[in-house]
Amino acid sequence: MKLFYSSSYVVARHSSDTTRKAAWIADSLRASPIAGIEMEAPDPLTAEKLEKVHEPGYVRAIRRGQPPELAGSSGLDWDPKVWPMALATNGGVAAAALAALRDGVAGSLSSGLHHARHDRGEGYCTFNGLMLAARAALFAGARAVLILDFDAHCGGGTRSLIGNDAAIQQADVAVASFDAYRGSAKQTLDFVRRADSYLPAIEARLRRLEEAWPAFDLCLYNAGMDPYEGCDLGGLRGITESMLERREQLVFDWCGRQNIPVAFVLAGGYTGERLDRDTLVGLHRLTLLGAMRLQPDGPPARPPRSSLTWISPKLDRRLERVTNSPTIRAAGLGRWQELVASAAQAKEWEYLPSCYQDLVVRAEQDV
Ligand SMILES: [Zn+2]
Repeated sequence: MKLFYSSSYVVARHSSDTTRKAAWIADSLRASPIAGIEMEAPDPLTAEKLEKVHEPGYVRAIRRGQPPELAGSSGLDWDPKVWPMALATNGGVAAAALAALRDGVAGSLSSGLHHARHDRGEGYCTFNGLMLAARAALFAGARAVLILDFDAHCGGGTRSLIGNDAAIQQADVAVASFDAYRGSAKQTLDFVRRADSYLPAIEARLRRLEEAWPAFDLCLYNAGMDPYEGCDLGGLRGITESMLERREQLVFDWCGRQNIPVAFVLAGGYTGERLDRDTLVGLHRLTLLGAMRLQPDGPPARPPRSSLTWISPKLDRRLERVTNSPTIRAAGLGRWQELVASAAQAKEWEYLPSCYQDLVVRAEQDV
């Protein structure tokens, strides 16, 4: 799986979690790699492409730092390195979208920046990476793009940029009211007030999206970790790390089942008194691990071959044959791991519980 990152993501002088955490996560991947992830530096976006989404005068202000009110309108202190940072990070989001169209799944360690407007920044968001990537995907031939925004805050900037464009749908599930907007049929905003409603709201929204027509050619996933209960900016009490892990599994499994290519980016998630850097990095790594569920070849998407060596060779071969089949991929990693564990216990096909036998037989029909 391609994961876009370059050191230009973090060159701006302004130091905040948003302008630094890509490097923290990249460092963590060097120290503790996730097998199957290939980091790659993206081509920077061009000014011309930025102007497909943003007003040329605003683009110029970010390039030159003048006028200062406009150059600093997002809240980020402007310095000359803000421009290369913006080109690199948004280049990464666009590259992830195009790689996902080709490979099925990809990501960038840059952020979606869903508060940025047409003619100004807002909420520490300079340019709207989600919209820039959606435009790149539509230009590359996608007909319908879904922006799934699970940052704690609302994506009012994205909403304003989509306007009446029927090719882009936004599904926003938020727990904090900043940048709220009035939803519509194609731009929904589900506001969650209680932790125990969070995952059910997401599941319900995903189910509704299955009825969308035409089917989505791409999902852009803004994977905010700021709903986490320990996050001072946006967190909701009761939303735990394991709930966010489950959320990532739901999103990627849903994309896999619907056969929708997915490009993910980081979003909120801020260190503070109750959230240290390692924990924050761990939260964002949940998104990477979730995305790896769509990769049939690389662990942890499939258990290691060695886990199958002490079952009967015949059963081993049958499992080996179906491991990358569409049926098994659609069933999801969890189900496959149950099957492998059960096979390890059964040792012979005859003793494998019938529900798993049925799954293998169905998978054999598509290989
Ligand atoms: Zn946020």
